[in-house]
Amino acid sequence: MVINLDIQEIIKTFRKNGYKVTAQRLAICKFILSRKDHPSAEQIYQGLSNEYPTISLGTIYKTLHLLKELGLVQELGFNEGSIRYDPDMELHINMVCSKCGKIYDYKAANVKELWNVIISDLGIKPKGQRIDIYYECEDCK
Ligand SMILES: [Zn+2]
Ligand SMILES: [Zn+2]
Repeated sequence: MVINLDIQEIIKTFRKNGYKVTAQRLAICKFILSRKDHPSAEQIYQGLSNEYPTISLGTIYKTLHLLKELGLVQELGFNEGSIRYDPDMELHINMVCSKCGKIYDYKAANVKELWNVIISDLGIKPKGQRIDIYYECEDCK
């Protein structure tokens, strides 16, 4: 299981699957990995457009789609229509502020234990998992 996705691993996965590692793709990957708040495509675009003036939102969407296909990011859709990208494929809890939409990851060892019990009770092999907790963050309280 992938614990902490790093850039070398992403490059390897791209190449193994026959995809070119372009400067823009690499920049998008690095940006997602450097942020702990699960950015949206628009946030990635805003974050990179200074350094990469030729980057387009379309390139970002295509790259995100590719990363998702390769199992390198999780796509988290939310009720209000926003989509956020999470590079952590391991079981963890997304703490989501219901007001400002800020997300951070919470990892609790006992969640994993409980999860394993649930999975073995169900007798299934999950294809993915997602646990979100909604709350109001310090800034919004
Ligand atoms: Zn997360
Ligand atoms: Zn908030």
